[in-house]
Formats: sequence, structure tokens, C-alpha cells
Amino acid sequence: MGRIAKGTSCSVITCDEVAVRSISTARVEAVGLDVAEQRRVYLCRRHYREYKKKSRTDSRLERWRWDAR
Ligand SMILES: [Zn+2]
Repeated sequence: MGRIAKGTSCSVITCDEVAVRSISTARVEAVGLDVAEQRRVYLCRRHYREYKKKSRTDSRLERWRWDAR
């Protein structure tokens, strides 16, 4: 995942916040986020946290971290 230009908006449908990260579409879809079809997707801070949270939850080894919140 790389840095992105300022002013790019989040790719999640219904979200128009400024994106902070770009991630490959396949990885984002794998955690169930509803994003527009494109090669890479851009996530705002909130959706990036959601993506990280879900990808960790899926790799059950680290699930305790999120259960403890
Ligand atoms: Zn967003």
C-alpha cells in the first residue's frame, strides 16, 4: 500500500471522505467492504481502520486484540 495524492476520496460506496491509503481491490473486497470496481482502492482513515480490523479478525491469531476493546 502506498501514499496517495491529496484530495483523493475514499472508494467505499456512500463514503466521500478524503482517502489516506491505497490498497489492492482484492484485499479490500476480501474483508467485505463495498468498493467501486477499480484496480486499486483508496480508503479514508475510518475505512482503513475498519479494513485493518477486519483483516486481523480474519486471521484469528490476533482476534483477541479486537475482542479486548
Ligand atoms: Zn471511507
